[in-house]
Formats: sequence, C-alpha cells, structure tokens
Amino acid sequence: MAGIVVVGAQWGDEGKGKVVDVFSAHADLVVRYQGGANAGHTLVVNGVKTVLHLIPSGVLHPKCSCMIAPGVVLDIEEVVKEIRDLKAAGVLTNSEQLKISDQCTVLLSYHRKLDAAREVAAGNEKIGTTGKGIGPAYEDRASRKAILFGDLFDRERLKGKLEASLKEKNFLIEKYYKQEPVEVEPLFNRLVELAAELEPYRSKDTSLVVHRALKAGKKVLFEGAQGTMLDLLHGTYPYVTSSSTITGSACIGTGIGPSVMQKIVGITKAYTTRVGSGPFPTEMNETLSERLRQEGGEFGATTGRPRRCGWLDLVALKYAIRVNGLTSLALMKLDVLSGHEKIEVCTAYRLDGVEIKELPVSSNDLSRVEPIYRTLNGWSEDLRNVRAIQDLPQAARDFIQFIATEVATPIDVVSVGPGREQTLWIKPLFS
Ligand code: GDP
Repeated sequence: MAGIVVVGAQWGDEGKGKVVDVFSAHADLVVRYQGGANAGHTLVVNGVKTVLHLIPSGVLHPKCSCMIAPGVVLDIEEVVKEIRDLKAAGVLTNSEQLKISDQCTVLLSYHRKLDAAREVAAGNEKIGTTGKGIGPAYEDRASRKAILFGDLFDRERLKGKLEASLKEKNFLIEKYYKQEPVEVEPLFNRLVELAAELEPYRSKDTSLVVHRALKAGKKVLFEGAQGTMLDLLHGTYPYVTSSSTITGSACIGTGIGPSVMQKIVGITKAYTTRVGSGPFPTEMNETLSERLRQEGGEFGATTGRPRRCGWLDLVALKYAIRVNGLTSLALMKLDVLSGHEKIEVCTAYRLDGVEIKELPVSSNDLSRVEPIYRTLNGWSEDLRNVRAIQDLPQAARDFIQFIATEVATPIDVVSVGPGREQTLWIKPLFS
C-alpha cells in the first residue's frame, strides 16, 4: 500500500509544508494526524505566500483531498478562519476537498487562556510554548474531558460538556491564575454558529476513509507537524510539544496500521534551528545565528519569534532516523548556506570528556554535551536558480554526499528555495 509519511527530523520548522505541498502533486489524499494550530506551514506558490496552521498543505492541489484526523487538536476559530481564507482565495471550492474527523479534540478559548497563564506563572522556567492552548487541550483528551468535533453537532451534549468543563477550568483561571472566567453561554452560542459553517466538512470515520483509499491503491501522504526532538516521549523533555511527533503518531493519530507505510521521509534543514527553551548542542554564536536568521527567514510562522540557529547536527539526525524509521531524507534550505567559506557539521558529541556518537536521551545530559565538528568547504554561488543536482557547485554536492554517507540514509530531495520549482529530485517519490 502506498502510504508516505513526512516527518520533521529536527526541532520543527524544517520546511515540511513545502515538501508536503510538492509531494501532494503526486498524492490523492493528505492526512494531518497530530498537533494543532501551533504548527505553521509557509507555502509559496507562484510567488504567493500562504500560511496554514491546521489544514494540510495538500489543499493547494485541487485533485488532492485533505483530512484532519483524530490525533489533531482542532482550534475551532483557527480552522474556520483558514477555511474562509482558502475559500476567498478560490482554493477551497468544494467541501469534499477537506474532511475533519468527528473524533478530533476541539481546542477552545479556555485552553489558550490556561496555556498563556501558565507560561507567565512559570517565569524563567517557561517551556516557550506558542500559547495556542495545545497542552491544555491534549490534557483534556487524556483526562477524558475533551469536547470532540462531533459533539458540536449535538447541542444538548455540547452544552452539558461545556458546563462541566468550565466549572473546573474557571476555578483554575479565577482562583489560581487570577484572571477573568470564561462564560458558558457566549461560548456555546459561538460554537453553534461555527458548527453550522463546519458541518459540510464533517466526517464520522476518517480512519475508514483512509483505509479504503489505501486499499483502492490511492496514494496517501501523512503530514507531521513539529519535529522529532519535540516529541512528547522521545524529544528533549520537558522542552517538547504535547503530542507525539514521530512516525508512529501517523498510525495512532489516523487509526491505521504501520504496514501501510511505504516510505518515511525525514525533513531536515542543511543547518538546525529551534524555537523556545531547551538544549541545543550546535547552537551558533549570536553573530552567525543572526546571519542565518536573516538569510533563512528564521522567524516562527505561528508566533513570529526569532528562531535559534545552529549547524547541522548529525548525531540528532541519526537519532531521528532511528526513532522514526526514516527511509530517506529531504534536505531543505541548502541555498541559505551559500557564502559561508567553511561549513561545520556536527558528527559526534563530547560528554564528560568522552566522545559519544549517540544522542543522550536525557535533556540534562544533552545540555552538557560539546559538539565535535567536521569542517567542510563552503561555496559562494547562489543556488536559488539551480534546477538539477548536477548543476550544484562541487562543494554543495560534497556536503550532500557527506551527510548521506555519515547517516547511512539516502537523500531523495534537495531544496534550494521556498518555491515548488526550487526542488531538486534525486529519486522520484513513488518509485
Ligand atoms: P514547516 O513547519 O516545517 O513547514 O516549516 P516552516 O514553514 O515554518 O518554515 C520553513 C520556511 O522555509 C518557510 O518560510 C518556507 O517557505 C521556507 N523554505 C522551505 N524550503 C526552503 C528552501 O529550500 N530554501 C529557503 N530559502 N526557504 C525555504
């Protein structure tokens, strides 16, 4: 069966949106399976920029259907805004192009309120969340208090669940965080209004739809959000997101088995970035970091926050290959490295005086490692107009080869700019 997973191999923001958009031209269905509106995919098509937070990037291809699966926490205001924007842009013309699972957890204003209040209360210990309410929404799911997307279409059930939930939430909001409570009635009325707009996109069982599509030989793309190092269980805990970001999550979030996956493509930049707090072994000094930030546009698509920048970390990349079972890589933003005389690539760490090649899973240990670099020659040429691998400068080709050899994983795609046409294929997607 032809399932392909696209997963972030670093700390997120690797350029998954562009990859999913480019891959979608060859896919029948794109499924978003985890995270929420904390992800931000920036796509550039014919020079027009579109930022999507919840709706899969495949929506820009008219023949490709899109799905939001149960593993996603659905910010109800955000999804309506995206639908309206896409309709206004003439992109979303038919409700069959987008289906949202009845089983999705609905993210509401009180989740956002709690998220922001907690970060403020944590002071220096804050996680650096996007403040979008993702953590509190997933907590509701785990404690069986979540309002599901399907609940929006049953007014009585919705009212009852909202009342029960707000009783507890407002106690925290008012008594502990000293903020204004959230009132049931206006929120209920707003949800009823939004439900009417969202009804055409409703699907009772998205798992069945995906299963049938795969059985019928359709090509299904599973779109991950955030990145491996932000995984709730396997990332740099506690500086992580609230969902599982690794490949296994595609199965869990969608409700399909792993045997349908034909390919698992890890997305990595030619360097590394991270937002928020937490260990980051290859972080550069501020001068270099600022240069990359400016040249690579390294500011969060969701929050606008400046991203921390560093050299490519092959120890972390090998870890991502292992925990995701990556079958190949897409190397993004190679163009951003142009003009550096020398390029550093981290091939090992030193921890307590000992050289190590495997990533320490404890964040405490990871924050203490020193990176060991291999210095490669850089190139001065602008790569943005290159359209074939063989036309890249020799030093850039050596850089690509070095990475593939060191991590023993093929690189299928290299990206030299945000546009679709700035994509160099080494190996076709469905081969
Ligand atoms: P995502 O969440 O993984 O999709 O990543 P983001 O969309 O937050 O960040 C990737 C950014 O890099 C976006 O602004 C893309 O338009 C841009 N981008 C993607 N690929 C390339 C590339 O190869 N070169 C350059 N210069 N920009 C790229």
